[in-house]
Amino acid sequence: MGRGRRRSVRLLVLSDVHANLEALQAVLEDAPAHDAVIYLGDLVGYGPNPNECVECVQSLPGLVALVGNHDLAALGQADLDAFNPIAQEAALWTGRTLTNRSRDFLAGLGATTWSDDYFLAHGSPREPIWEYLERDGQARTSFGLFTQPVCFVGHTHVPRILEEGRNGGGSVPPARAGRHVAVCGRPRLIINPGGVGQPRDGDPRAAYGLWDTDAGEFQFRRVPYRVAEAQKKILDAGLPESLAYRLAAGL
Ligand code: ZN
Repeated sequence: MGRGRRRSVRLLVLSDVHANLEALQAVLEDAPAHDAVIYLGDLVGYGPNPNECVECVQSLPGLVALVGNHDLAALGQADLDAFNPIAQEAALWTGRTLTNRSRDFLAGLGATTWSDDYFLAHGSPREPIWEYLERDGQARTSFGLFTQPVCFVGHTHVPRILEEGRNGGGSVPPARAGRHVAVCGRPRLIINPGGVGQPRDGDPRAAYGLWDTDAGEFQFRRVPYRVAEAQKKILDAGLPESLAYRLAAGL
């Protein structure tokens, strides 16, 4: 018997749901068939459905998940002075709303993880919880901190590709919806799939990615969701109004 062809493994790459159940459900309905899910942190904070989102993500197949700064804030494990007043208010609301089950799940997540194929961090390999990788050259140090062909990060809510060696680890704009990126180790990449539940690149559609490890290809994807429903729930919950309005602008 000859050696079999390696099974194609397709991974959904999700980040920053921020308790937006409408966006999360739209992404899962839109997602092509996949074998496993990478989740890059900030499952809660800002949005009105933290427990429902925890329950939903927890049940995804082959889940590998990280904790983010807003998850830690909701657990009372991050200094609230690091957040703006609106984020502070949302973190306190989320902390009061989380069930013990949700808290246990979030408290069990780490700040980084890796396999032979990937390295994962919410912010960056250098500062896994807090660093926003958004400027050219900023990623140089982070590329030195992992050996895998690709690192996935979230935190900025902006889809982005950083390429090792380009302007010292600079960006290759734009990471438009539908764009396919070769992930083959030459050059190595840091990829941000964008935010599911609070996009910040001016496009209100939920952002996520699909990584086909066999084809060596990552695809940036976008899907519209019921923004008005999410906004209404934010207002009904008594969360800051600006958190509802920003969803319509994708900012
Ligand atoms: Zn976030």
